[in-house]
Amino acid sequence: MLLIRCPYCEEDRPELEFRHAGQAHIARPANMAEISDEEFEEYFFIRQNPKGLYFERWRHIHGCARFFNAARDTVSDKFVKTYKAGEKKPSVAKPKAPPAKRAAAQPASAKAAPKKAAPTKAAAKPARKAPAKRASTGGTKTRRGANKP
Ligand SMILES: [Zn+2]
Repeated sequence: MLLIRCPYCEEDRPELEFRHAGQAHIARPANMAEISDEEFEEYFFIRQNPKGLYFERWRHIHGCARFFNAARDTVSDKFVKTYKAGEKKPSVAKPKAPPAKRAAAQPASAKAAPKKAAPTKAAAKPARKAPAKRASTGGTKTRRGANKP
């Protein structure tokens, strides 16, 4: 079970007690009525989706119910640090070693698996799916034309 440290309770608690609350450190513009539509869109809708270190808000919903911030690695899902709301964004070193190891390990296992498994199944599946997609989007004329050649 994933444990998350609540900076207010000062305990590692199960993930089920918490609720994700979006990206952290988004400052509301002071001159909201004067900003352009593009600036409002940027503030209100646009969020980061990084691969790696990410700063986000969490709420200890089934505990103290308070909001706090966390630095989390989105690749390993490891919480690097949690800290109280209102505190400055901590300087956290980006975790680079685990993603590199995973990237190196995946191609080796991916190469080994298809050789032992039936490669004919993998080759046959796209060929079966392709005519079905054309028939559903193209109608009967496209289907007849595709079958002749
Ligand atoms: Zn708490």
